[in-house]
Amino acid sequence: MPSLYVHVPFCIQKCEYCAFYSQALTDTPRELISLYLEGLEVEISKRQKDAPQGVSSLFIGGGTPTALKEVELEQLLGMINSFFTMNSDTEKTVEGNPGTLSVDKITILRRFGINRFSLGVQSFEDRLLRAVGRAHTAQQAREAIQRLREAGFKNINLDLMFGLPGQDMELWQASVEEALSYTPEHLSLYGLMLEEGTPLYARYGEIKESEKDGQVDQLPDDDLQAEMYEWAAVRLKKAGFRQYETSNFALPGFECQHNLGYWRGEDYLGLGPGGVSCLERVRWKNIEDVRSYSNLLSNGQSPMDEEGKEALSLSECMAERMILGLRLEEGVNLISFQNDFGADLRDIYRNVLERYNSGDVFVFQGDYLRLNPRYAFVANTILQEFV
Ligand code: SF4
Repeated sequence: MPSLYVHVPFCIQKCEYCAFYSQALTDTPRELISLYLEGLEVEISKRQKDAPQGVSSLFIGGGTPTALKEVELEQLLGMINSFFTMNSDTEKTVEGNPGTLSVDKITILRRFGINRFSLGVQSFEDRLLRAVGRAHTAQQAREAIQRLREAGFKNINLDLMFGLPGQDMELWQASVEEALSYTPEHLSLYGLMLEEGTPLYARYGEIKESEKDGQVDQLPDDDLQAEMYEWAAVRLKKAGFRQYETSNFALPGFECQHNLGYWRGEDYLGLGPGGVSCLERVRWKNIEDVRSYSNLLSNGQSPMDEEGKEALSLSECMAERMILGLRLEEGVNLISFQNDFGADLRDIYRNVLERYNSGDVFVFQGDYLRLNPRYAFVANTILQEFV
């Protein structure tokens, strides 16, 4: 069974670091949301055939799904439930931001069987939230967590960011400690990325070291960011969390099944504008434009971005399995690799493995190949070797 992702491309406002496809509701006529929902219903009805046995997990992300109005949220959840089969214990996640979570919306989520919520807290310090253009306050995050718990959510993820302008170790530690005080089941820790084309990139991306002193809010340098990450990894381990992926920490049994599916190389369906799907080694992406997406679907055409369709070669699939799998604590399963690709990864990647062997970067344990956790912070650089 593939997993199912549904993209909701609307946010209250654009965060200044964000390069995801989403548009600010402040610039969006409400009728565009109706168009989006109409298009999505057609796409869902057509793609149902790709999951005849149902889906292994559901993730409604964005964007900010909870930026929709109550009636729109109901419509969205209703169409997913009526076309895709899911068990009551299938992991069903909705992500959202503080400030968009009314009691009524949470009640609707529960009524439609949503059993996991991922909340974009990022920081419990208002000054830092403002520095990156987040549309909410720390107090709204506290209220949202309380409401989710009161409504019966027993599986909550909190997203936190490090490397924010003006953030020092003390502020980072305070946010992590406050997050822990709410006893979430899952935490995702992300370092701020300066993506080209974003306001934050324009502000910081091309500033030379020598020019940084004049900035009101400096970005933490790479060393400080590494310390923030390492401190948090140790702190969360002490609090009982398992770091099951480079950026993700869970209490035992609360690992995100949806994301595990991606990292293990399983098939997925991604619906909505900008949604990405990968079935039987063919990957495609929907166009990133609500109006065109909807118009194409209502005219009986595919919303696929023709340039975004690719039949993955065997070597691309193998490289992807290595890159994604080695981000997991469990690593890459040698037997699954052999079964899926008809080859032993030790033969295929002998050169890379030997090159790093003396530095104990890679570890063989049982049926798995793992990345030594000491190299987690530089994992991206090392993993490029598999491309
Ligand atoms: S809430 Fe998320 S998707 Fe929306 S603008 Fe901010 S970072 Fe981007």
